[in-house]
Amino acid sequence: MKTVVALPGEGIGIEVIDATCELLASSGLPLKIVTPPQGAAATKSYGTPLPEETKQAAREADGVLFGAAGPSSSAVVSWLRWEMRAWGGVRPIRFFPGMRSPLANPEGIDYVLIRENSEGIYPGREGDMADLVRLMPDLTDRSGRAVKDYGTEGRFAVKIVTPTAAERIARFACALAQKRRARGKPGKVMCVTKSNVLPRSDGLFQETAERAAREAGLAFEHFHVDDAARRLVRFPTSMDVVLCMNLYGDVLSDLGAETAGGLGLAPSGNFGDGGWAYFESVHGSAPDIAGRGIANPTATILSAALMLNHVGLESDGERLEAAVGRVYRDGTTLTPDQGGTATTRQMAQAVVAAFRTG
Ligand code: NAD
Repeated sequence: MKTVVALPGEGIGIEVIDATCELLASSGLPLKIVTPPQGAAATKSYGTPLPEETKQAAREADGVLFGAAGPSSSAVVSWLRWEMRAWGGVRPIRFFPGMRSPLANPEGIDYVLIRENSEGIYPGREGDMADLVRLMPDLTDRSGRAVKDYGTEGRFAVKIVTPTAAERIARFACALAQKRRARGKPGKVMCVTKSNVLPRSDGLFQETAERAAREAGLAFEHFHVDDAARRLVRFPTSMDVVLCMNLYGDVLSDLGAETAGGLGLAPSGNFGDGGWAYFESVHGSAPDIAGRGIANPTATILSAALMLNHVGLESDGERLEAAVGRVYRDGTTLTPDQGGTATTRQMAQAVVAAFRTG
C-alpha cells in the first residue's frame, strides 16, 4: 500500500484534487489517500496554511499530490517547491487527439520541458536600491552604467546560477533524454537561456548543459528564450527534452501547454534529493472559474499518473495516461475549455471508467 498526501491548495485546486482523489480511490489501486489540514481552513484552525503535522505527513508520504495555489495557499507550494528543495521540474507537453489545440497540426506533440526550480530569479531575492548602491556602487552593466548611476530610489532582484545546480539539472535532463531515446525518441536536449544578454550567469547554465549533453552522447541545441518561444509554437513536434532556467521554464511551460490544448492539460512532477517528489498541475487556482465545477481535471489526473510512476506503479501510471487519451478521443465527456459540457467530476469519472476497462 502506498500513502499519498493530497493537498488541494485553493480555488479550482480543490475541485481538481477532489475529482482526482475520487478517481484514485475508485481505481482499485493500492493507495491510501490522506488529506491533512492545509490552506485557508488550516489558517483558521492552526493559524498557518501549512501546520507542522501536514509537513510531516508530506515528508513521509510515498507521493504528494498538490492542486493549485492562490494568494491564501502560496505558502503551501513555496514549502513544497523551495523548502523541500524540489529542484527538478518535469513538465510533459503532450497532445492527445481530441484536445483543443490552436495549432493546425498538433499531432505528435510529445516533449518534456525541464524547469530548474531552485535558482535563477526565483524564489525572489529582492531589496532596495539604496542597499545595492551602498554595497556594490561600481558594479557596471555591459554598457558601462554603474549601479550608483541609477540612484538610491527603487528596488532590485538577484539572479543566481551556481555550477552545482546547473550541473544537477543538466544531468537530470540528460538522464531523461536517454530514457526517452530508449523508447524511440530523438535523444536531444534543447537548452533555453538568454546568454546573449547574460553571458556570465545564463552563459554558465548553457555551457554546463552543453557539456553534460555531449558527455551523455546526446544531440544538443541551444536557443535564446525569445527564439525558443517561437520555436515551441512553430516546431513543437521536433522537441524532445527542453531544458530551461527557472523563469523561462515557468513561462514556456504555459506556452507549451496551450499548443497542446490548454493550461488545464499540463501536469508536472517536482523532484528533490533522496527520491522525494511532489506532483501538481502547471496551472494556478483560476479564480475566474473557481467554484463552478467546470475546471478541467486533466492536468491533475496526469500529475497523478506521474506520481504513480514515481511510487513504483509504472504500468498503472501508463494505463491512467492511456485512459485520459481515450476520453479525449471519445470526446463526449470533456469540460467547457475543451468544447464540452461535462463537469470536472464527470470528466474524472469518465477517465476512471476508461481506466477500469483499459
Ligand atoms: P491560472 O493558471 O490560475 O489561470 C490562467 C487561465 O487559465 C484562467 O483563465 C483559467 O480559467 C484557465 N485555467 C487554468 N487552469 C484551468 C483548468 N484546469 N481548466 C480550465 N481552465 C483553466 O493563472 P492566474 O489566473 O494567473 O493565477 C491565479 C492564481 O494562481 C494566482 O494567485 C497565481 O499566483 C496562482 N498560480 C499558482 C500556480 C501553482 O500553484 N503552481 C501556478 C500559476 C499561478
